[in-house]
Amino acid sequence: MDTANVRWPDSLWSAVTPPGSDLPTLAGTTEADVIVIGAGFTGLSSALYLREAGVDVAVIEAIEPGWGASGRNNGQVIPTLSRPDPDDIIAKHGAVGERFVTLLRDSASTLFEVARRYAIEAEQEQTGWVQPVHSPGRIKIAERRVRQWSKFGAPVEMLSRAATRAMLGSDAWFGGFWNKTGGHINPLALSRGLARVLLERGGRIYARSPAISFERRNQRWVVKTAQGQISGRALIVATNAYTGEFSKSLAPDIAHEVMPVLSWQMATQPLSEAARKTIIPGRQAMSDTHGELYFARYDARNRLVTGGAVIGPANRAEKMKSMVSGRLKKLWPEIGQVSFDYVWNGYVGMTTDFLPRIHRLGPDAYGWTGCNGRAVALSIALGDELSKAVRGHPESELALPFTDPVPIVAHGLLRRVAPLMLMVYRWRDAREIA
Ligand SMILES: Cc1cc2nc3c(=O)[nH]c(=O)nc-3n(C[C@H](O)[C@H](O)[C@H](O)COP(=O)(O)OP(=O)(O)OC[C@H]3O[C@@H](n4cnc5c(N)ncnc54)[C@H](O)[C@@H]3O)c2cc1C
Repeated sequence: MDTANVRWPDSLWSAVTPPGSDLPTLAGTTEADVIVIGAGFTGLSSALYLREAGVDVAVIEAIEPGWGASGRNNGQVIPTLSRPDPDDIIAKHGAVGERFVTLLRDSASTLFEVARRYAIEAEQEQTGWVQPVHSPGRIKIAERRVRQWSKFGAPVEMLSRAATRAMLGSDAWFGGFWNKTGGHINPLALSRGLARVLLERGGRIYARSPAISFERRNQRWVVKTAQGQISGRALIVATNAYTGEFSKSLAPDIAHEVMPVLSWQMATQPLSEAARKTIIPGRQAMSDTHGELYFARYDARNRLVTGGAVIGPANRAEKMKSMVSGRLKKLWPEIGQVSFDYVWNGYVGMTTDFLPRIHRLGPDAYGWTGCNGRAVALSIALGDELSKAVRGHPESELALPFTDPVPIVAHGLLRRVAPLMLMVYRWRDAREIA
């Protein structure tokens, strides 16, 4: 791929965020103590924690910091996974699962604290995160989440129907799960801010340098790009759902253990002051219980940033505009005319059980994938753990539930038909749960 000609998506975030630092490409042969592949939240956060510990770290990025999911997402800071709750995680992973749940519980606060510590201006608002439920029977989802997260001391609450109506300004939902530590950010500003801080502290980032492969040679990790190569004692592969995008040979097992699903994002025109008095007046981030997710949050200019998914290859942006404006008007009739100033998309890495996959890739080498659309906060928090792993902290202290990469069978075929899952989600969403 000719990376020089790859352009930023026409997103709200790329329109409003000041450009990132000028970065070199990797050319010739060089070394670092730790090599990180991928400059999203995971890679940048890992590198920053490493740099703070005095480690010589170099990040190799295919395009620019934030180019993957980290610069295009909805920016909701959510301290839970999409579906699995603490009991599910602990049933699968035992003691390390408990440490992972604790990491997840604190992940939103960790993100806001990192932004504060480094004075990163990312339009951050720690207004809380709410998951309203879209049918009476699904109240039990919220009740279960409140019960399980309360056991772990998370600041969560059950919202009644009236409280949900007051918080979101809509009668569409029947109650909800509420976590005060969540909120929202401009994710590209956070990506670029982390990159800037890393450079200021002496870390290196090579941009427009897709890694083609990594291998173990003479007790070191060697990463090759088109024009250069770098060797290091340790390696973190932080390419997540974009793992197969630039090199099929980079880590095919990791690329094939998630289904990259295109998620559309869109930003409305700024809402009027009158509309904002009733529509999510407390500016919380919201994602509900639909499989075909309803989600929204304000940006700093009072646009609603929302989105969805669509089936079929033709006119997708236009189809999204018509579908989502209809949805917004139904949820909030007082919104009036809805127009969208920005429409863009990005890949969410879905796993079959909605759990992330975290791997030991060899001596002092780690990686993960499977964000399931819920890892803005988690990826920042994982950076701390991954940095500890490559610094030799005992695994018994880490919140990293390792598994071996298990590629999805017939991945290529399933990737083509995966968008049809939306029909299954719609069918399930329309039915009450038992
Ligand atoms: C549209 C969308 C909306 C989302 N909304 C939310 C949300 O509101 N809340 C939430 O919690 N989560 C959300 N997510 C998920 C969240 O964005 C991700 O979990 C998170 O950004 C993952 O960060 P990461 O650093 O692990 O991966 P990424 O940000 O994807 O970073 C991977 C990086 O690796 C680079 N790369 C890939 N291959 C190579 C290579 N060969 N060589 C060098 N570099 C390479 C890519 O260019 C990219 O920059 C959303 C995701 C998407 C796509």
